[in-house]
Amino acid sequence: MSEGNPCLTCGACCAHFRIVLHREELDVSPGGYVPLKLTHQLNEQAFCMQGTDVFPPRCIALEGEVGQAVRCSIYADRPQVCREFNEYELDGSPNPSCFKLRGIVPPQR
Ligand code: SF4
Ligand code: SF4
Repeated sequence: MSEGNPCLTCGACCAHFRIVLHREELDVSPGGYVPLKLTHQLNEQAFCMQGTDVFPPRCIALEGEVGQAVRCSIYADRPQVCREFNEYELDGSPNPSCFKLRGIVPPQR
């Protein structure tokens, strides 16, 4: 089990949201890192991770079985929006969207 990181047995957010990123985040842009080949272009500036703009969504970079054991195959190069979506916010408060996706009531502080 992964008591310290619930994401490793979850993956719900990677199979729920449309994961949108800016052109500047792509590996073909200076300083960018997200693999262009795993994205789908939405407009001149916006891209999304393949698999997240269809129903049911599932990011192409997600490996494993949601709710069992998963990993992001581009973890070090994942989009900014993925980096910012975690079980807890930077101030220590629960991320309500994360807990809702998991069907868990957030802990009271
Ligand atoms: S951030 Fe929350 S919903 Fe996303 S994988 Fe981690 S525990 Fe699951
Ligand atoms: S890039 Fe990785 S963290 Fe982001 S949605 Fe896809 S699998 Fe999840």
